[in-house]
Amino acid sequence: MKRTAIIGSGITALARAWELKRRGIDCTVLEPSAHIGGAIQSYRAGPYLAEEGPNSLQVNSAKVDAFLRSIPGLDACITPAAPEAKKRFILRGGRPLAVPTGPLSALATPLWSFGAKLRVLKEPFIPAIDPSVEESAADFVRRRLGDELYRYAINPLIGGIYAGTPEALSLRYAFPKLYALEQTHGGMIRGALAKMRTARRSDAPKFEKRIISFNDGLAELPKRLAQLLDDNLHTDVTISRIQKTGGGWQICWNGREQLYDSLIVTTPAHALKKLPLPKDLQNDLNTLDAIDYPPVSVLSLAFKRNEVAHPLDGFGVLVPECEQRTLLGVLFPSSVFPDRAPEDEVMLTVFVGGERQPEYAQADTGALTATVLPELQAILGVSGKPTFVHHRHWPRAIPQYKLGYGELLEKMDRIEEHFPGLELAGNYRTGISLSYCIEAAMETI
Ligand SMILES: Cc1cc2nc3c(=O)[nH]c(=O)nc-3n(C[C@H](O)[C@H](O)[C@H](O)COP(=O)(O)OP(=O)(O)OC[C@H]3O[C@@H](n4cnc5c(N)ncnc54)[C@H](O)[C@@H]3O)c2cc1C
Repeated sequence: MKRTAIIGSGITALARAWELKRRGIDCTVLEPSAHIGGAIQSYRAGPYLAEEGPNSLQVNSAKVDAFLRSIPGLDACITPAAPEAKKRFILRGGRPLAVPTGPLSALATPLWSFGAKLRVLKEPFIPAIDPSVEESAADFVRRRLGDELYRYAINPLIGGIYAGTPEALSLRYAFPKLYALEQTHGGMIRGALAKMRTARRSDAPKFEKRIISFNDGLAELPKRLAQLLDDNLHTDVTISRIQKTGGGWQICWNGREQLYDSLIVTTPAHALKKLPLPKDLQNDLNTLDAIDYPPVSVLSLAFKRNEVAHPLDGFGVLVPECEQRTLLGVLFPSSVFPDRAPEDEVMLTVFVGGERQPEYAQADTGALTATVLPELQAILGVSGKPTFVHHRHWPRAIPQYKLGYGELLEKMDRIEEHFPGLELAGNYRTGISLSYCIEAAMETI
């Protein structure tokens, strides 16, 4: 029977290991730390639940849905997002304004000026860019939708997803679906209409996207997967040597020499250099150290409900760079999922730092809370002191698919060709969302 070793225990590793196990393939997951789940970490303290990393999982395809259904008992602890989650806010002039959800609300919204709305009507007539030209996400949106839509729609969205700067991110690699929409259909509006027409066809597969979490937060997912993997998962592992042999990979971990047919490395790109890999492979991997992961701090704060003026009737507020605030955004988890705070309180999750303001992410809990509180007061009318504070600092949070990323992806392909049986997997390769990590784990088998 073929044997596979997987290094790391984030969602990429665990989803892959579970898929292999379901297909009867022997695999061993090696996690150097005491914690499983990688970026997915939920912190429960009595009635409070704080997500330190991702806050929700968007089930965006039948594949992800099938994966979740394959996990025995998981269905019973899924908590679907409340309908309020569809409502999202963007800060403009210091006020959270609802993002339109349809053509009529788009016409009426005060979020964008009349001129900006008129400019959008030009979008279907703007030709697609020559595919030999690589464009930043910012340039793409300004070219197709105009500067105001860039500043008050896409800039905050990208801050929220990547904690990145749209000027630096490559449209093609950071937002491949958007890129494909222009290349295939000639534009965003044309592409969206074509997709709607396809979805309406009676023979089209029906799938409804949804946002979910779990009773005890997102960490329930890695926890369940770890239980299923049982003896195949090892934490607190010391890997002292990884060698390429004629037929596979010899790994010395916790003093044991083990032979594997294939090796899947799922650590972040910047951690590859810490692995005791063969010198020639390590030299090749050095190039991937160029991938930026900006720091982010996630601050979870609970307040008495009557000390927050805003109704918090939505998913959260994203903050455009031009509003010059110290927050990237703030989520309203207790409006979206149950059991995040006591009945008479609300939980807010604040994101700070990213490529936009890395210095703010480094602050300690006290300094960060002191910076954030006046912002919450101004934006949401928070008047009281927090009843609960939980802070997680990610020194290197999310990989940035910057301009020129294609060369790094090609390099990854070449490395795998030179080292048969090796696979580089993770959010720096196949997309950063949890769904993309799960889909990639299912597709590459
Ligand atoms: C603050 C934050 C908020 C986010 N919000 C969302 C969200 O709401 N929705 C969403 O879909 N996505 C979100 N994401 C993105 C998503 O969480 C990640 O892209 C995804 O979890 C990455 O999974 P992974 O397994 O590829 O990597 P990771 O989760 O980073 O796992 C890497 C693994 O490698 C291990 N490792 C690290 N160093 C070494 C080493 N030297 N040797 C061996 N092993 C090592 C780690 O311990 C870990 O087990 C968020 C990410 C962050 C940081």
